[in-house]
Amino acid sequence: ARKFFVGGNFKSNGTVASIKSIIDGLNNAKLNNSVEVVIAPPALYLLLAKEITGNGVDVAAQNIYNKGNGAYTGEISAQQLKDAQVHWVILGHSERRSIFGESDEFVASKTKAALDAGLSVILCIGESLEEREKGVTIDIVTRQLAAVAEQVQDWSKIVIAYEPVWAIGTGKVATTAQAQEVHAAIRSWLKEKVSAEVSDATRILYGGSVTDKNSKDLATQPDVDGFLVGGASLKPAFIDIINSA
Ligand code: 13P
Repeated sequence: ARKFFVGGNFKSNGTVASIKSIIDGLNNAKLNNSVEVVIAPPALYLLLAKEITGNGVDVAAQNIYNKGNGAYTGEISAQQLKDAQVHWVILGHSERRSIFGESDEFVASKTKAALDAGLSVILCIGESLEEREKGVTIDIVTRQLAAVAEQVQDWSKIVIAYEPVWAIGTGKVATTAQAQEVHAAIRSWLKEKVSAEVSDATRILYGGSVTDKNSKDLATQPDVDGFLVGGASLKPAFIDIINSA
C-alpha cells in the first residue's frame, strides 16, 4: 500500500515568527502516524525549519537549479540541500512554469539533478483552464511526465503532484471525480511508459484549493495518495488535512 503523503507548500509566505508558530503547531499536534508529512517553507527558512521541526515531519525546498555549485547567483544547488539535510524538493510547480517560464525539459533536468544528488522530488504537473476546456488535460500531464521520463530512469524517489492550474489559489477545488480521472490516467501512463511496479508504488497527490472541508472526500479516491496544500498549509486546518487520510 502507498503511504499517504501530505505536503505543505508555503510558497513565498511567512516570517521567522509565523514559520516558528506553524511548526510549533505541528510539533504539538496529534498527527496520524501513517501519513508522511513534508513542509516546504521559503529557502531562507529551511535551516530554521530543519532545526525545530519534530513529530516526524520532514522539510522540502521549493526549487533548485539544475547545475551543481558554481557561478549561478541567487540559485541553490541540490548538493547544498543535501548538505543541509533537506531531503525533499518541490519541482515544476505551475508558478515556476508560468511565472518563471520553466519548460518541461528544464523541470526534467532539475528533477534529474535532484535525484542524482540523492534528494526526493515532489514533481508538479497540471493543465491550465484553457487546456481543460479544450479537452487536452491528459495530453498535457503526460507530456510533462514524458519529459521527465526522457531524463530519469529511477522513479522511486519521486512523488507526483497533480495540480490543475485553475484550482490553485482559486477556491475552485477539482471534484473527486475530476481528480480521480486524472490520477488514474497518470497511473496508467506510468504503467505503460515506466513499469507496473512504479505505477503501483508511486504516490500521486492532488493539489489546488485543498482545505479541511474537501480533503476527506478527495482522500477516498483510490488513486489519490495525498495532497500538496498551499494556502491551507499556513493555517491550523493543515493538521485536519493531514489527519483526513
Ligand atoms: P492552494 O492550496 O493555495 O490552492 O495551492 C496549491 C498549490 O499550489 C500547492 O503547491
